[in-house]
Order: sequence, then structure tokens, then C-alpha cells
Amino acid sequence: MTEKPYSTIWIRRGTWAIADQGLFALANVLFNVLLARWLAPAEYGAFAVAYSAFLFIGAFHAALLIEPMLVFGPGRYASRLARYLSVLIRGNYVLMIPGSLLLIATGIGAWFFGSPPLACALFGLAAASPFTLFMWFTKRASYIRQQTHFAAAQSAIYLFLVLPGLFALKVFHVVSVFSAILVMGLAGAVAGQWLVRRLRTATADSEEVLAQHDVLIAHWKYGRWALVTGLLTWVPFNLYFVVLSTWANFEASATLKATTNLVLPLLQANAASSALLLPLLVTRAVNRTEFRRLVGRALAVFVAVGMLYALTIGLFGRPLIHLLYGGKYRATAAMIWLLALIPIIDGLAVVFASTLRSLEQPKQVFRAQLFAAVCVLALGVAATGAWGVTGAMGAIVLAGSLAATLLAVSVSKQLAEPAQLIEPKAKAMISNDERQNYCDLCAEEGALYGNKKGYDLLSCRRCGLFWTDPLQYHQPQTTVEETYPSETIYLSNSLPQKKRFRGQLKTFLRASGFEDVKSLRVLEVGSGLGFFLDACEEMGIAAEGCDIVERAVQYANRERTRVRLGTLDDYYGDESFDAIFAFNLIEHLPHPKAFLTEARRILKPGGSLVLETPIQESLFHWLARAGHTLSQGRLNFFGMKPGGHIYKFSKKTFRKENGFTNVYQRNIESPFGEIWGNSSTLSVNHKFLYRVSLPIAWAVARITKQENRLFLLLRKLVEPQTVVSSEIASGVTRGLLTQCQ
Ligand SMILES: [Zn+2]
Repeated sequence: MTEKPYSTIWIRRGTWAIADQGLFALANVLFNVLLARWLAPAEYGAFAVAYSAFLFIGAFHAALLIEPMLVFGPGRYASRLARYLSVLIRGNYVLMIPGSLLLIATGIGAWFFGSPPLACALFGLAAASPFTLFMWFTKRASYIRQQTHFAAAQSAIYLFLVLPGLFALKVFHVVSVFSAILVMGLAGAVAGQWLVRRLRTATADSEEVLAQHDVLIAHWKYGRWALVTGLLTWVPFNLYFVVLSTWANFEASATLKATTNLVLPLLQANAASSALLLPLLVTRAVNRTEFRRLVGRALAVFVAVGMLYALTIGLFGRPLIHLLYGGKYRATAAMIWLLALIPIIDGLAVVFASTLRSLEQPKQVFRAQLFAAVCVLALGVAATGAWGVTGAMGAIVLAGSLAATLLAVSVSKQLAEPAQLIEPKAKAMISNDERQNYCDLCAEEGALYGNKKGYDLLSCRRCGLFWTDPLQYHQPQTTVEETYPSETIYLSNSLPQKKRFRGQLKTFLRASGFEDVKSLRVLEVGSGLGFFLDACEEMGIAAEGCDIVERAVQYANRERTRVRLGTLDDYYGDESFDAIFAFNLIEHLPHPKAFLTEARRILKPGGSLVLETPIQESLFHWLARAGHTLSQGRLNFFGMKPGGHIYKFSKKTFRKENGFTNVYQRNIESPFGEIWGNSSTLSVNHKFLYRVSLPIAWAVARITKQENRLFLLLRKLVEPQTVVSSEIASGVTRGLLTQCQ
């Protein structure tokens, strides 16, 4: 054998590997087809659901046992392989004790919730799965020993045990979902045991010690990440069997399973071919031109095969289903054509994922899968509820397409010529004296969070404050009057606005403990058209305001003078107000610290500063962060820009020493219309994504109390403190004018 050239050996091993996968796929497909023919649709549907549950447990098994073995077997334990495999065989059964118990518990639950067929299927799998997974494990073990001919023989043994077993059940009239699964487990046990004996006899271990707990730790450390990926890949294909059985019935799950059986052989073949493609790609990765050519060829082959398969399914799928299942299952044309897309999508995904893995970028594969799974999850469940099997099929196709697209983007970036390093635009365009690279509140140097078009996002490690650098654009700005929303829009919204303000006033009175409402003196900074002042007056509170928009001041003063054109400055005497309100203002101010200092000066001892401002501890911010990370900085849904929302505060920011103590805080939502309108500044692609996710996120945020703004009541600390009256930038309330999130 050693005299033969390497390529001959490789081809021989490859041929055996293909034979192995072919025989194994054949056994699985025949098993499924016979079961679908012989069992009632409800029973086969129960099998489909239970099998999904089994694959879920199989994901744990693969991640903790098989995948680490493929790395450590030829590597660190190569000289002690026989003992290593013995440890893993014990591990297989130890791991399957909780797995089987879980299946039994689920089965008992199914029994009591009135689904005996599902219970039977789960009980059967509880007994069979340790042996089935044992066979999968031994098969991969023979691959690391490169004894693929043993694996092929094992698949043949399995095939010739399962088929006669099923026919025997048929002859003796004992076909049931339970007995069929037992046959599967028994065949797995025999085939697995056969292969283990072959593997054991052919090994000579060194004398080195092999500690069981070392193996355990190594497998856990490697496998915990594979575990996440494994569970994620389970979702897009398997979840819908479970969803269909709960939203529709087992017959629907059975139809989905019976239909998707048609593409299983190709999916399995693709998986097997990728195992051969990967090492080939790895060896070519050094030469980019050659590598690109190889990726192109692989794509051509996989897509051509996929299209051929798709065409066959599209044209003959329905008669084929009729023939295979004896007329028991019927697929609509829509289902068939959706199904036909799966082989093409899978071919693309397999090539792209292998390419990224060969470039040692498994993280990008993980990201694409995560993003696709999360995006399609809610939509898929809803579609399944609305359109049943067709909806589920659509969801599978959508998740696959999204993942393949994301993978394609990653690949094209990897394959592009190394781009010249471009200086962040913000740094190039803006002179140093316009920059704000330290935290306005604690003077700590800001950490770079991301580069945007023309500005940076910085964050403070000490207080968590987030801001744009620079704070303002130097370019001539549109005037205040031009950007101010027309009065008609504001006025049309006056009733809900006033209702909102009344609620906030009541919250303020409760939290601050002010009892004598008549004696209160209140100032609103950025009072706009005066709706809050109206609400105060209705409740008998003396309130005045200030704003820098002349038209707004005129409107607010139409009946009598109560608003001053200007900002928070020396006009107001020391300790002259009981409370200062500023709604959606502070995030627009270039220097919030100066505002806090000035507010503190004007407030009476023990007086309150009431703020409303977008907050980081919210679902929106969390989603924006996730989008920013996953898109590698391309998605910017933070709603911040120089001259607009300059700052985003954290709850942590307000806990820092600032002359105030935090009395009350609660997340509150933005009016939906306001954040919907906010998307008009986004680019077309981003706007679409934003508008698709916004309604769901807004509703979820309300239910989970993770709304995007903070309503906050700060009380002026009574201890005397030297307060430096700092100069306030001329446009303290300028921010009010731009749109508010
Ligand atoms: Zn800070």
C-alpha cells in the first residue's frame, strides 16, 4: 500500500467514503419511505416530530463527542487511540443517559397531553438513540483512522439489518412507530459493535498515560462552541416539524417530512462531498488565484448538480411522491417548487461555508447561521401558523437563502484583493479642535466603538456614556426654523402628548413627595409649543418655560407670556425652582455637564431635575448593538449623529457623582410614529430592515419593559458644594429641534 502514489490512495479512500455515505443515505431514505407508506399519517408525523427531538440531542452528542474527536483523534491522542476510543465509547453511553431520560420525560408529557403516538415514538427513541448515536460515532472514528472501507462495510451491514427487520415487522403485522424505531436501534447496535472490534484490533497504543478527565476537559473546551453552532443549525430545518404538530397536527408534520425526504439524499451527498472538498481547499489556500479558481469550479459543480436535482423534483416531484408513498401524501405545486430550491441553496451554502472554514474563519459561518436563524425564527413560526406546510417550507427556504447570501458576502470579502487601509473618514475630515475625544461628564478619554460616515462613536469606560465625535458638523447647518416640525403636525398630536405629560406629572408628584401642588414652581427647558405647561396649569402648578425657537415661543405665548426665548442661563436666579423638566433634550446638548451644573444652581435645595432621554438599557439599543456587531459596523441603528442625538446615556451614567441623587427611574416608550418617521434618514436598504424589525421590536420592548427611553427623577443633593457656574453654549436647547427618538 505504501508504494502506491498518494493520489491513488486518496481516490480509493474517497471512493469508499462516497460508497459509505451512499449506502447510509439509502438506508435512511428507504427506512423513511417504508415507514411513511405503512404507518398512518398521524403516526408518521409523530415519528417526524420525535426524530427532530432526537436530532436535537444528537447535536449535543456531535458537538461534545464526535467533532472534538475529529480534531484530537489524529492529533494529541494519536499515539493512544485505542484507549482514547474506549474512553469515548463510555462517554457515548454516559452522555446518552440524560439524553434518554429527557426523551422519556418528554414522552410522559406527550402521553398526558393526549398524544400517545408521539409518546411511543419518544419512548422508542429513548431506547434506540444511545445505539444509533454509537453507530454514528464509530463511523466517524473509522474516518480519522482513514479506514473508510470499514465505514462503507458498516453502512452495508446496517442497510441489510434495517430493511429485513422492517419487512419482518410487516409480515408479523407488528409495524408501529415504536417497533420500527427499535429495529433502527438494534441495527445500529450491531453495526456499531462490529466496527468497534475492527478498530480495536488494528491499534497498538504507546505506554503514555491517558487520564479520563483530561479527555473530558479537552472535549468540553472544544465542544462548547461547536454546541452552539450545532443547536443553531438544528433550528432552520427541524423546528418546523415541532411547530406544525402544535399549530396544525401530526399529519402536517408527516407531509413535511415525506416531502423533504426527496431532497435528503442530495443534502447528505453535499455534506459528504464537503468533507472531501475542505482538505482540497486548505491545500490551495496559499495561492489566491488558484484558490479562487477552485472555489469557482466547486460552485459550478455544486450548483449544476443542485439545479439538475431541482429540475427533476420540480417536474417529477408530485408523481414521485404519489408513487413512493402509495398516494398517501400529496404536495401542492408551491410546496414542490419551494422544495426544489433547497438543493441549489444547500450547494451554495456548502461551498461558501467550506471556503470560509478553509480560510480559518469558522466564526463567520457561525455568525451567518445565527443571523439567519434569528431573523427567520419569528417570521417562520408565523408563516407556518398561517400557511401550514407550505409556510414551513417557505421558512426553510428563506432561512437557507439568507444564510447563503451572508456567507457569499463574507466569501467575496475574503477573496477580494487586500484593500488598502483607509483612514476613518471622521479623522480625515475633521480638525483636532473640533473633536470631542473625552467624556463630557467625567473627562475620561473615550474608547472608540465604531466609525461611521463622517464621525466616530465613542464610549466612556467609567460612566458608560456614548457620544458622537465630533459633536457638531462644522458645515453650515440648516436653520432652526427649517427643521422644526410644522405646527400642524405637532398640534394634531396635542391630545396624546398632553395625556402623556399628565401621566408623567403624576409620577413625578408621587416619586418626589411634593404635596402642596399650589406652592410648586416649575421650569421646563425646551418647552416647544407649551403642551407640558398646559398640563401643569390644568393641575394648578405654576410653570414657565424657555425655548430657542422663536415660532414655538410665539405660539406658546399666544394667550399670555409664560415662555422666554433663550436658554438656561444667568437670567434665572439661584435656587429659584422646585423642579426643572427637560424632555428629550439632554441627548442633544453638546455639554450635558454644564446643563447639570446650571440646573443644580437654579434648583432649590432638595429640588428635582426630571429628564426623559434615550437610554442604553433598552431592547432597541441592544438590537442596534447586535446589528452593529454582526454587520461588522455597517448597520447603524443607534439613532445618533453629530448635531442630532449626540449622546446616549446609560443608567450607570446617572449613578455617578454629579451633584444629584437618583430618586426614580423607569423605561418608557417613544410614540411609535416618531421612531417610524426616524427611519427616513436611513439609506434605502437599512430603512427596509429597520421598518421590518421595528414593529416587532417596539411591541416586544413594551411587553418586556425594555422601552427605549428613560424617565428619570434626580434630586439635588443638599450638602453644600462649590458649584462652578460654567458658561453654557449658546444653543442649549438646540437639540429639541431635530427629530427625537
Ligand atoms: Zn464618563
